[in-house]
Formats: sequence, structure tokens, C-alpha cells
Amino acid sequence: SAAEAGLYTSSDQIIVLSPENVESVVVNSTAATVVQFYLSWCGHCIDFSPHYKNLARDIREWQPAVQLAAVDCSAEENKEICTTYGVKVFPVIMFFPAYSKAGTVGSIDKGLPHDVQRLRHMVIDKLEAHSDPWPPACPPLEPISQTEVDSFFETNKVQNLALIFENPDSYIGREVTLDLLQFDNIAVRRVLSTEEALVNKLGVTEFPSCYLYYPSGNFTRLIVNYEARTFYSYALQGLKGLVRSGKPPVVNVNVTASSSERQWKSFNRSSVYMADLEAALHYSLRMEVAAHTVIKGDEMISLKNYVNALAKYFQGRPMVVNLLKNLNSWLQNQTGDEISYEAFKEILDNTAQSPDSALPKSRGWVGCQGSQQNFRGYPCGVWTLFHVLTVQASNANGSDPQEVLTAMRGYVRRFFGCRYCANHFEHMAEESMSKVETLSSAVLWLWSSHNIVNNRIAGSVSEDPEFPKIQWPSPATCPSCHTVSRRGDHEWNRDEVLSFLKFHFSSDRILTDYLD
Ligand code: FAD
Repeated sequence: SAAEAGLYTSSDQIIVLSPENVESVVVNSTAATVVQFYLSWCGHCIDFSPHYKNLARDIREWQPAVQLAAVDCSAEENKEICTTYGVKVFPVIMFFPAYSKAGTVGSIDKGLPHDVQRLRHMVIDKLEAHSDPWPPACPPLEPISQTEVDSFFETNKVQNLALIFENPDSYIGREVTLDLLQFDNIAVRRVLSTEEALVNKLGVTEFPSCYLYYPSGNFTRLIVNYEARTFYSYALQGLKGLVRSGKPPVVNVNVTASSSERQWKSFNRSSVYMADLEAALHYSLRMEVAAHTVIKGDEMISLKNYVNALAKYFQGRPMVVNLLKNLNSWLQNQTGDEISYEAFKEILDNTAQSPDSALPKSRGWVGCQGSQQNFRGYPCGVWTLFHVLTVQASNANGSDPQEVLTAMRGYVRRFFGCRYCANHFEHMAEESMSKVETLSSAVLWLWSSHNIVNNRIAGSVSEDPEFPKIQWPSPATCPSCHTVSRRGDHEWNRDEVLSFLKFHFSSDRILTDYLD
């Protein structure tokens, strides 16, 4: 279909326009819409597509105010859309203000920088030029004055006002304002360095810098490693008492736990727990694989790869390691077209009863506990398990850099119960897994793919408010993982991230609490 042939899918967080949805997306929408018109076969369009995808990820938090869309004008069925809007050269970006009327042709931008910072600034310029009616989800972007600050809390029902002091040509204040727009109980406004009254009142000497201003009239400077957009946004989003709009307020987990039947197990958030890894194995091998009474074809290949990776790289309790090795030798010896889950289960449950080989039944999640029953648990265990395996494979100097990723990809595709997750994961794997050429880049690929998922599902119904989805690890968790480019944009220090991952997921740091 055209959607598959095109350069974008909805998992890129870009709305794929078609004759069926174009009206509802572009006409009378509460959000402003950026539409890229492209031809799937044109080289410039193909070259531009990774930058457009980066932009979508970068401004994901802005979605209620401004959304990104794309239409493939080389697909027959879209021809009429493209003619209606009079687009003849590609790629081109058109900006549709919120509440655009049918037939409105958006304003055009032909120069499309291959640079997420410039693209982001372009979006802000467009938003600022937006005439009435302003997109309701979009906070004010103009600078605030001393008078407005003085009466701010009389008219705004928030406890936190973040003021970003900056030079007039800086975009940081507006970027952070938009980054925080989905969070309640905070407003972010920019203050120009020329606003002397305020600058003097707070004693501001550095531009940019960020201050928190409270209803009492007190203020404090926000401490960050770099005075840059992403660092402000991380710090502000992590403030105590802040929640996303529409989410219940964060409650103390211990309180929640005592009111439920489950027993809350206290744990250290910066540790990995063997109990979670074993629980993930238990659930995967006894529940998910069990849903397939007969395993054959691609499922058989995937299961073999998965169990092989476990047998090779899982460094757990000796009895679990032995069990996985036994299971693997049995499985690899199955040369027929299919096996039954019953036969697999017999080996898995070690009915021969040798005491030094077993996968114990799980006694519940520890580091993967959710603040409520329906949060976290198994998917958290799956991520953790595979991060541990990629790190272990890299320590063990495995010969195939993609071995663990292939095992994960196959397992997720054939067995992982969340179909929607599996499709998205497969899409990511298809797009970029082939570029993994070293064991280290396999560790980083999984980290970065996990962050893409975090980015996409931040704020969704499945997010545990106690464990918000962030781009991980935060500057607070790993300061050296984060840096800024010459032009002041956030950058990951990938070497440092790699060291951090190898440390965080290393076998000798895994805690064995709550195991029998
Ligand atoms: P998780 O995201 O499960 O992370 C577990 C732990 O890993 C975190 O607590 C943190 O310590 C660490 N961590 C976080 N980010 C990273 C990183 N980038 N690198 C290394 N470690 C990290 N849910 C959906 O709603 N939609 C989806 O499309 C979707 N796709 C998924 C695909 C796969 C393959 C998997 C395994 C899960 C998917 N899920 C999806 C579930 C979702 O990603 C979470 O696992 C789930 O919401 C539980 O979240 P959590 O808070 O426990 O954190």
C-alpha cells in the first residue's frame, strides 16, 4: 500500500496523510499543522526524511499545539491532495494554522535545512506568526514583563513559574515553554535580557539562565550542567509535584502499596535486580511461548535464537544458567519441522528433577514494580533482560555483533504479546538494525531504540506516573552522558553512554535481593 511505500509511518510520530484523513487533520484542527509534501522516489526527499523524523522526535512534547504530517505525492491516490494545494516541487513544507478553513493553502517553506535545530526554530517562527485564533494548547511565547510577573499568580493557577532569561535572538525560552506545555502546575516564560527591572530584581548576570519564581515572591536559580534547552526541560519536568495534564497526581508509592493486596518491595532505582530478570524469563518461557501449542517455521527459528542467546550470555544463578543450557541443547537438537510446547515445557520444568537446574517460579517484580498492578512489570523485564544481554555479549566478545539483537527482534516479532509494540519494534529494527557493526554499537542501538519508544509513549495511558518516560539516563543519573554542541544544542556523549550502560547493566552489579 502507499502507506508502506512512503517514507514515513505513524510510528515516526508523523501523521501520514491520505484522502481519508487529510480533512480531519488539516481543516479546523485545534493544533497548527506542518505538512511536508514529498515524492517517495526523489533523492532530496529521501535525504530529508531522517531530519524530518528527528524533528518529530525532538518536538514530540509540542504535539497538542503543533503536529507534523507528511503526504506522499508520488502515490496515485494522493494526487488530488497535492494538486489541491498546488505543490509542484518537492520536498516542500506547508504550515497550516490551527482552525484553518477548508481550501486554505498554508504558507510555504522551500529551503529545508538538514538540521533539527534550524527546523525547530522554523516551527517556532511559524507559531509566533500565528494569527488568531491561537492554538488553545499553545502557551504564550512572547517575553514576559515585570508587571506581568507581579500579577502572574493572581491570574494563573500554577505553583511554579519558570523564567528563562535570554538574549532576544535566543530560542531556548520558547523551546522550553513548548517542552513543558503538557505539564500541569508550571508555566514557563522567557524574559529578555533587556527587561532591566526583572533582570535587576533577580540579579541575573548570565544569559541564558533559568529561575523558578514562586507565589510568595521568592525565587531560586535552576541548577543545570549546561545552560541549554534540554537541560532546562529535564530539570523542570522532573520537579516535585509536576504531572502531565490529565494524569493523577503522583502519590507516595508506599502509600499506594499498603492499600493494595500486593506487598511492596522497596528497591533502589539505580540498580538492576535478578528477580526481575528471572521473572521476565518465567513469564516469557511459561506464559508467552506457551500460547503457541505448536512451534514451527519462523517461530522455531526465533525461539532457537532466543534460547541460544540466553544460554550463551545470561549470567544468573547457577541453577538457572544450567537450566537454560540444558534447554538450549535440547532445542538446538530438534531437527524436525516443529515442536510442541508440551515437549519444550518438559525440559523447561526439568521434570527429571535434577536439583542444580531450574527456573524457579517468579515471586514478583522488584525494580520493575509498578505503583499500580497494571503498570510496568513484564515489558520492563523484557527491556532489562535484553539490555543485560547486549552488555554481556559485548563483554564476552561474541563474534556476531547482531546476535542478541536478532534474538530479541525474532522473539518480539513472533512471541511478544503486545502486537502493537512488536510492530513498532520491527519497524525500528528494519530501519536501522543492519547498521549495527560492533558489539558496542549493539548496546547503543538498543539504548537508542528504547529511548525512541520512551519518546513516543511518554504521557500515554500505560505510563506509570511514578516512573515517567524520559530520555534515559537523565543528566541527574549520568551527567557525563550529556553535552552540548557548539551551537548549544543537546548532544549525547555516546562514549560516556556506552560506559554508563556497561556499568549499569553489568552482571556483577545485579542485585539478588528477594530471591529464595
Ligand atoms: P521501561 O521502558 O520498561 O524501562 C525499564 C527500565 O529500563 C527503566 O526503568 C530504566 O531503568 C531503564 N531504561 C529506560 N530507558 C532506557 C534506555 N533507553 N536504555 C536502557 N535502559 C533504559 N509500550 C507502548 O505503550 N507502546 C509501544 O509501542 C511499546 N513498545 C514496546 C516494545 C518493546 C520491545 C518492549 C519490550 C516494550 C514496549 N512497550 C511499549 C512497553 C514500554 O516500553 C514499557 O516497557 C512499559 O510501559 C513499562 O515502562 P517502565 O516504566 O517500566 O520502563
